[in-house]
Amino acid sequence: FKTSVQDMEHIEELGNGTCGHVVKMQHKPSGKIIAVKQMRRSGNSDETKRIIMDIEVVLKSDCKFIVKCLGCFITESEVWICMELMDTCFDKLLKRLKHPVPEDVLGKVSVATIEALSYLKDYHKVIHRDVKPSNILLDTKGNVKLCDFGISGRLVDSMANSRNAGCAAYMAPERIEPDPQNPDYDVRADVWSLGITLVELATGVFPYQDCKTDFEVLTKVIGTDPPSLPHDQHFSPEFRDFVAGCLTKDKMQRPKYTKLKNHAFIKRYQLAEVNVGDWYVRALQRVGDRATSRHPVRQFFSMQQK
Ligand code: ADP
Ligand code: MG
Repeated sequence: FKTSVQDMEHIEELGNGTCGHVVKMQHKPSGKIIAVKQMRRSGNSDETKRIIMDIEVVLKSDCKFIVKCLGCFITESEVWICMELMDTCFDKLLKRLKHPVPEDVLGKVSVATIEALSYLKDYHKVIHRDVKPSNILLDTKGNVKLCDFGISGRLVDSMANSRNAGCAAYMAPERIEPDPQNPDYDVRADVWSLGITLVELATGVFPYQDCKTDFEVLTKVIGTDPPSLPHDQHFSPEFRDFVAGCLTKDKMQRPKYTKLKNHAFIKRYQLAEVNVGDWYVRALQRVGDRATSRHPVRQFFSMQQK
């Protein structure tokens, strides 16, 4: 339906990223509350075409593990991408809880992320390039969804800055130091980022936390053994093996999605019932917060979607 930037009312900031910020907004004509990613643009028409093409990919996406994109506004100076509003992301949650995320919840996170990544690769030939805890969202109903699909990466690309697409800290070795014989990177770069994300969430600390600069992180990623789940903490052998697979330094040896989907860890959590929503609500209660769920509006919102 036709609508304009003037129909959108600012409610609150949800966070800042490298290429813009995300704002909770209300679409006044419908009353819907959504999340809007607002990015500055340089203003050439090639770039705009590319942005629109990318957004069309995301708009066509129909995968329950991907945050729904509702459309976009392109003004002279900015691009606004309207998305389904989720309750939080794993980055904010970890900072709030100051406590690791349990393995069974991470099982569901792994299933959702692998499904989302392989869906976009198979149906839209897109690789994510920015897998990290702040791009994995969740809600009190227990939905886990990936966001910023291809958009952030390609937008940065269109700013002629493709080597910087994605967050340094989660970047695979082959992206930091491309092999001159085989410089391209593929889905396995995202698999590495998932591995780093899982280690961070499972231990509660970022594996390269001692590094003071991005440069130091990148040097460590290349020059040291990959991070792994610490042996003095309890994790299942399947989880350890899954993470070790994701964090294989040689990309040629690192598994792709077909193999990962058949891994015992993924198989287990495709079937297991894990109440992620309940865990989230209780975890917040433990730190004295209430989940910021907006059930009446959200229900109205999803009814409108059908
Ligand atoms: P980054 O992912 O690099 O932290 P972004 O600009 O992509 O930066 O996002 C900023 C914050 O906005 C994220 O940390 C996330 O918590 C929040 N956010 C993004 N999209 C949504 C959404 N659809 N619903 C709720 N929160 C969101
Ligand atoms: Mg993001």
